[in-house]
Amino acid sequence: MTEPRMNVESFNLDHRAVAAPYLRVADRKVLPHGDVIVKYDVRFAQPNVAHLEMPAIHSLEHLFAEKSRNHSDRVIDFSPMGCQTGFYLILQGDHTFEQVEELVAATLQDILDADEVPAANEVQCGWGANHTLEGAQRAARAFLAERGQWSQVFAGESR
Ligand SMILES: [Zn+2]
Repeated sequence: MTEPRMNVESFNLDHRAVAAPYLRVADRKVLPHGDVIVKYDVRFAQPNVAHLEMPAIHSLEHLFAEKSRNHSDRVIDFSPMGCQTGFYLILQGDHTFEQVEELVAATLQDILDADEVPAANEVQCGWGANHTLEGAQRAARAFLAERGQWSQVFAGESR
C-alpha cells in the first residue's frame, strides 16, 4: 500500500494481509523512567470478513479482565477494538511470546470453565444486561483451538 504513514500503529497495518486468529505486538513504549509497556493485538476474527457480536465481546472483556489478573499482576488493560474483530491487551514490562501465549491461553481456559460473567449487573457495569456467557465461551473456544497458529500473523507465513 502507498497510504501515508499514520499516527496509530494499526492504521499502518494492511488488514487484508493478516490471518486471524493471531497474537501480535502492536506497540512498545519505554516510559521516561525506563519502565516498559507493551500493547498486543489479540485478533479473534478475520478483519472485514467476520466479527464478534457485541454481547460476546462485552462478556469476553469482563471475563478476561478479571481472570487474567489471577495469572499475572502485570495486566494493565484488556479492551475491545471498535471493529469487533479483537482486543488490545496491555502489559507492563517485556514478555516472551510464549509467556503472553500462556497468559492468554490460561485465561481463555478460565473463561471456558466459568459459570457466570463477573460484574454483569447494573452496579458494576454500564450495560449490565448486554452479556452472553455462551457467546464469550464460543469465541474463546474457537480462539483457543487455533493456539498453534497464534504466532502466524500474516497469511502464507510458516512458524
Ligand atoms: Zn461492562
